[in-house]
Amino acid sequence: MARIAIVTGGTRGIGEAISLALKDMGMTVAANYAGNEEKANAFTERAGIKSYKWDVGDYDACQTGCAKVAEELGPVDVLVNNAGITRDGTLARMSFDDWNDVIRINLGGCFNMAKACFPGMVERGWGRIVNIGSINGQAGQYGQVNYAAAKSGIHGFTKALAQEGAKKGVTVNAIAPGYIDTDMVAAVPEAVLEKIVAKIPVGRLGQADEIARGVAFLCAEEGGFVTGSTLSLNGGQHMY
Ligand code: NDP
Repeated sequence: MARIAIVTGGTRGIGEAISLALKDMGMTVAANYAGNEEKANAFTERAGIKSYKWDVGDYDACQTGCAKVAEELGPVDVLVNNAGITRDGTLARMSFDDWNDVIRINLGGCFNMAKACFPGMVERGWGRIVNIGSINGQAGQYGQVNYAAAKSGIHGFTKALAQEGAKKGVTVNAIAPGYIDTDMVAAVPEAVLEKIVAKIPVGRLGQADEIARGVAFLCAEEGGFVTGSTLSLNGGQHMY
């Protein structure tokens, strides 16, 4: 039987590449998205992967959405918490809503989705969870106290949940991407982006496929010994 995977934010950017990589591994993939119907429909048509709309920051919507996927495709074996947003600004300029939305979606989404999927994985004795963190959760970033806090939280969440899953055949890992060429990075002003690229030892932005390759490694059948780890895929920008 093919493994069933949910990729949040799986219809574009890094998530799209992850959905395609897991499909290539023989998995049946459900790609979640927030509201960009046009991109989601085009992705489904192109990739032959079903897309499902719900807000990962909404606890009840996650439970209902995952139940629908399980009903239509089967019990969920693999969860990739990839959905994320930015609402940048210095602390002085950041509104409470900008803080709260980023924490609620980026970090809260991991909790909401794990609540829906982790118990079944434990019960069946096999599962893979990969949470997409960020270099900025490891190193911090000017104008991103909300995003850095959420992503840093994801790294702690990963290590804690990995301990709960370890004896049950469920691995939980994180990937910390550096700067990847997607819509999210396209929103960064060009002058700022030039300065960022200048600091990347390999001299370029990463590609979504390069993150997807890491996810595929962590989700493999043979990946059972890798848990609680963070894979830093950042072109050498932050080494530790
Ligand atoms: P994009 O902005 O290109 O895509 C974001 C995806 O997440 C979209 O599919 C979007 O859905 C979905 N999404 C956003 N909010 C929600 C929500 N509330 N519920 C469900 N889905 C949601 O992002 P990237 O591909 O660039 O980033 C993917 C992940 O990688 C994020 O977690 C990001 O923080 C992280 N990351 C990205 C880096 C980069 O350089 N790009 C660097 C480090 C980490 P819709 O299409 O409907 O809007």
